[in-house]
Amino acid sequence: MKELQIEVTLSSTRKQKPDFDNLVFGTVFTDHMFVWDYTEGTGWHDPQIIPYQPITLDPAAMVFHYGQTVFEGLKAYLTKDEQVLLFRPDENMKRLNRSNDRLCMPSIDEELALSALKQLISIDREWIPGVEGTSLYVRPFMIAIEPHLGVSPSKNYRFMIILSPVGAYYKEGINPVKIAVESEYVRAVKGGTGNAKTAGNYASSLKAGEIAYQNGYSQVLWLDGKEQRYIEEVGSMNIFFKINGEVVTPELNGSILEGITRKSIIELLKYWNVPVVERKISIEEIQQACHEGTLEEAFGTGTAAVISPIGELLWKNEKMIVNNGEIGTLSQKLYDSLTGIQNGTEPDPFGWTVRV
Ligand SMILES: *Cc1c(COP(=O)(O)O)cnc(C)c1O
Repeated sequence: MKELQIEVTLSSTRKQKPDFDNLVFGTVFTDHMFVWDYTEGTGWHDPQIIPYQPITLDPAAMVFHYGQTVFEGLKAYLTKDEQVLLFRPDENMKRLNRSNDRLCMPSIDEELALSALKQLISIDREWIPGVEGTSLYVRPFMIAIEPHLGVSPSKNYRFMIILSPVGAYYKEGINPVKIAVESEYVRAVKGGTGNAKTAGNYASSLKAGEIAYQNGYSQVLWLDGKEQRYIEEVGSMNIFFKINGEVVTPELNGSILEGITRKSIIELLKYWNVPVVERKISIEEIQQACHEGTLEEAFGTGTAAVISPIGELLWKNEKMIVNNGEIGTLSQKLYDSLTGIQNGTEPDPFGWTVRV
């Protein structure tokens, strides 16, 4: 494993740690951050770990105008014997580079970026909450910083990593959520940026989410951008259904984000010999399965919640209830197994976890 030589400036004061039992996602940040600049011609230079602080950018920095930016999200866990574990961080770094490529941003050395991430976590290690279900959320991201209003790829970039302790996603047990199937707006189209982790996808998805929320639904189910018929994702998560004993998830088609949780779930199911298929799934098929009583479970997957069961799907004024609005056995088993591997309480037969 390559090590990145980083110039470290430690903070002279340490912030007060928050109450780890009452954390609100993404609102509290640790004492330090990682910064690495890219300049055309020079490449990546001057990696630094410095005290967490605001950054100064030219108002013409291209990220503000044309949205050239990508991000990642992963978690570090403190095990019972005080080890720090990351979950498949190499996959995040690979995906970061795929997103970079789509946004015409420079690629980054995946091993060196991971080395930076580990060094930063080691320095802010005390910020990893040990309470069950909690973790340290890691947010690597890259922005275009050249001051230039012409529409073209920026010449200069900044890569940063910030850390945020996050609370247990489910405090009072896992409650299935109500989801509205979106039939006006779309999240992504084939040929667009749906499979890149870039800010624009989120900005354009807020409107539908807000409307759903006002109507009493937690999130929307996104259909494909062409026919508005085939299921793509749920909110900012991938989606799975269990129909008649078989698990199905939309196949990767260029507009779906390739979730690492999604990939891990497929691998776990195969390991357990549970039938799992990646294919096109229409909303009519789900409706029909619901009518026939074969729609057994539905859940979203992603780093933040790991598994988010769906209890109701609203489509064209019809409320489709899944598993009486309760969490299904397979959803619960997947949640327990995956979180167990992540926090080191279960064996890791796949070698997914990486020690910091
Ligand atoms: C990040 C993300 C996911 C989930 O990916 P994980 O790697 O499992 O966290 C799913 N959909 C979208 C749109 C995302 O941005």
